[in-house]
Amino acid sequence: MSEVASRVIAECRRIASMSEEPGRTTRRFLTPPMQAVHQYLRARMEALGMAVRVDAAGNLLGLWQPANAPARRLLIGSHIDTVPDAGAFDGVLGVVMALEFVELVKEMQLPLAIELIAFSDEEGVRFGVPFIGSRAVAGRFDSALLERKDADRITMADAIRAFGLDPALMEEAALDENAVGFLEIHIEQGPVLEAEKLSLAAVTTIVGQTRLSLEFEGEANHAGTTPMKLRRDALAAAAEWIGGVEQLARSTDGLVATVGKIAVEPNAGNVIPGKATVSLDVRHAWDSARSGAVKQLLENAQEIAERRGLAVQHQVQLEQPAVPMDERLTSFVSDAIEAAGMPVKRMTSGAGHDAMVLASRVPTTMLFLRSPGGLSHHPGEAVLEEDVDAALRVGRFFLNRVAAEIR
Ligand SMILES: [Zn+2]
Repeated sequence: MSEVASRVIAECRRIASMSEEPGRTTRRFLTPPMQAVHQYLRARMEALGMAVRVDAAGNLLGLWQPANAPARRLLIGSHIDTVPDAGAFDGVLGVVMALEFVELVKEMQLPLAIELIAFSDEEGVRFGVPFIGSRAVAGRFDSALLERKDADRITMADAIRAFGLDPALMEEAALDENAVGFLEIHIEQGPVLEAEKLSLAAVTTIVGQTRLSLEFEGEANHAGTTPMKLRRDALAAAAEWIGGVEQLARSTDGLVATVGKIAVEPNAGNVIPGKATVSLDVRHAWDSARSGAVKQLLENAQEIAERRGLAVQHQVQLEQPAVPMDERLTSFVSDAIEAAGMPVKRMTSGAGHDAMVLASRVPTTMLFLRSPGGLSHHPGEAVLEEDVDAALRVGRFFLNRVAAEIR
């Protein structure tokens, strides 16, 4: 393993120690440990000769602009906020790798300007709304968000001021036309690469998702005196439907569907359930496949309810279309994987990322690194040195190609 790979991993772990809670990693939007991460990264970037600034959304940006390079620049980055009790690599790995990509550009003396972005908020833990940082950079920040309050009743505007920034300057965070591409390096956060014994993948699409809640309404009654054929059991209906959800997803290529939450009324051991409210989360890379599956599942619910003498209704909570990555930039990533001597794996991302937001503004692509154990949003999150090395090899070919393109 290379020295660089162990340095990357050690840096991620060091940043993980900058936390709101002793002994575990929790770093929400614009909290004091985020200030500490800024200080750390700023020193790293300045040592590399980069010009560093912080925008009004609290994103930390560093520009490497070689004298012989055009002003058109490639953006590389990810987020530095975390979920509570997080691992060391979700988000941060993409920022630390971006530093190493700048090192590569310097070492290869490429006429390529790179802007590193450490996004301030992707997870949305503090204000209950994700992608605050990337929304600002993509020029899609809704100023109504500034009035939102965190758990301590601090508004986002006040949190921004307390961090030493001016929320009135939010519009200036938006990218100019010299930003010509965005690369996000991120852990896979799933088990696919590990199962296929692969280090890396190029991401083709961030899947779309539908979230809804479904309510089966029957009749609560005595568990001892009500004969089976005279019951209108809401939970039994929901259970039959949930079995069908799993079946449909298992038999449909690329579809994942999950019922993760259920509430039963009156929720007593000796009472037939009168009401069952269940969640549904459906994801697919193709919007038509996703909406087709949702339609089918709602029809199933209707059929089950009618047959059992129940009522059913649903409420859609989220309808997020799939976001394809830029084809050309993604082909640069897959070509680079091939040039680095590895099998080319192209896959979809089942999780949302800053790349999803940036894609609305600038050609965007992602490079995934294997997640050992498929583990993420967990302190056991890890990255293998050999995979970091593989990503650095890919970086050489990718950066060369982008430099040739921009010249
Ligand atoms: Zn992430």
